[in-house]
Amino acid sequence: MNVEQYRVAPGAKIDLTEWDANDKNLFDGGKQQGQDALPALNKRLETLQELLYAEGKHKVLIVLQGMDTAGKDGVIRHVFNGVNPQGVKVASFKVPTPQELAQDYLWRIHKQTPGRGEIVIFNRSHYEDVLVVRVHNLVPPEVWERRYEHINAFEKLLTDEGTTILKFFLHISKEEQRQRLQERLDTPEKNWKFSMGDLAERKLWDQYMAAYEAVLSKTSTGHAPWCIVPANRKWYRNLIISHVIIQTLEGLNMRYPEGEPGLDKIVVE
Ligand code: AMP
Ligand code: MG
Repeated sequence: MNVEQYRVAPGAKIDLTEWDANDKNLFDGGKQQGQDALPALNKRLETLQELLYAEGKHKVLIVLQGMDTAGKDGVIRHVFNGVNPQGVKVASFKVPTPQELAQDYLWRIHKQTPGRGEIVIFNRSHYEDVLVVRVHNLVPPEVWERRYEHINAFEKLLTDEGTTILKFFLHISKEEQRQRLQERLDTPEKNWKFSMGDLAERKLWDQYMAAYEAVLSKTSTGHAPWCIVPANRKWYRNLIISHVIIQTLEGLNMRYPEGEPGLDKIVVE
């Protein structure tokens, strides 16, 4: 699958109205075939993750961003299905605590970045500090405007020190969000996922899209690229993200560590 088309070129000016959240042009089949294609990718990812863990050399950071209901939790559940929990960590970033707010905004982020042999998935991230923070004027513009530069430098530091970074924007349409929020209201088992605040955020949809466009335009770099994932179809979203991660891990040319010399002559009695 040539997923390059979803990668944001460094310096590209992004207008999200030009990106179709319904797109599925890289897959010929429909939903059922799309869902059926995922287990083989899960298996491949499981193998690559084991290799990453065994080799203990590379660090991998996966950033998930998107509006409410865009599918961040779903990606974690489906794309990483079957992967050994040893060596994979999820870090979810909520409203900062008073202690976190007393520090600089990258403080809580840096503590969660991956070590050697680890994959860490950020469910929301430091990008909230130029998204929700910008949309709600939680700090003055001159404060958040500086942050794109900090973020690019921070991610450069991480990659210089051996981290591979992949960032995914899960792109859903406003109508798709309406349906998913309504479903959360209509299904008792999904009520827990709904919060009144989601409706208030939805009213700010256009402001969020502008904030995301700024993020995608200013922070997709050679070392830490963004992918804009068409996410109205959950199965397609899962396939695209799986392919990007697998292709990236394959590009690391990982090897199992060599055993001690002479192992081939040992017979266990
Ligand atoms: P959820 O992902 O549904 O659990 O919600 C987490 C909430 O925390 C979202 O509404 C985010 O916008 C909010 N949040 C995350 N990071 C920040 C931040 N740095 N400042 C303010 N709110 C944040
Ligand atoms: Mg939520």
